[in-house]
Amino acid sequence: MARYTGPVCRLCRREKMKLFLKGAKCDSMKCPIERRPYPPGEHGRDRVRQGSEYLAQLREKQKARRIYGVLEKQFVNLYEQATHQSGITGENLLRMLELRLDNVAYRAGWGASRSQARQLVRHGHVQVNGKRVTIPSYRVRQGDVVALVEKSRQLIIIRHNVDTLDRQVPPWLEAEAGGLQVTVRSLPEREHIDVPVREQLIIELYSK
Ligand code: SF4
Repeated sequence: MARYTGPVCRLCRREKMKLFLKGAKCDSMKCPIERRPYPPGEHGRDRVRQGSEYLAQLREKQKARRIYGVLEKQFVNLYEQATHQSGITGENLLRMLELRLDNVAYRAGWGASRSQARQLVRHGHVQVNGKRVTIPSYRVRQGDVVALVEKSRQLIIIRHNVDTLDRQVPPWLEAEAGGLQVTVRSLPEREHIDVPVREQLIIELYSK
């Protein structure tokens, strides 16, 4: 599956806010947003953009895509699925993004960033209900038990993350086995999804 491989800090600068895409660097003074809080590019500092409704909607969509590391086509597919579910479409969309296996591994504190969590999944370190799953976009369900594979639990990177990140799991997940396993207790509600995205604007963008 294709993924963005360019400089990720540019993505935060484009959105003029921290998207926390790089793990420890994001909380340090090395974060470029601290030093250059303006869009990237030769004219990033000087350009004054007229705000428009479309621009606001586009930026919200890009922000959500970048936070979860999802490409445009996948994102559109998720939107289509969200429109066919009951309830509020924007919340359905965010819920499906949260239920991605790479995001669950990130929320569990196994990866310092979502991209690192994605790599853990890709490399076969994560299992769902006792079976290894290597698809980052795999959508977990209520009651699923997501765990680190036994042999992977001693990997330095995983031990380091589990011991130092101290990330609180959201209420819809329950941490077990010293943080090496999580159970999906319920489907995530909007108030438990702490991403700075106004999902209604994304829905307005796609429903034009
Ligand atoms: Fe974004 Fe993190 Fe880079 Fe800062 S260090 S710009 S928060 S990815």
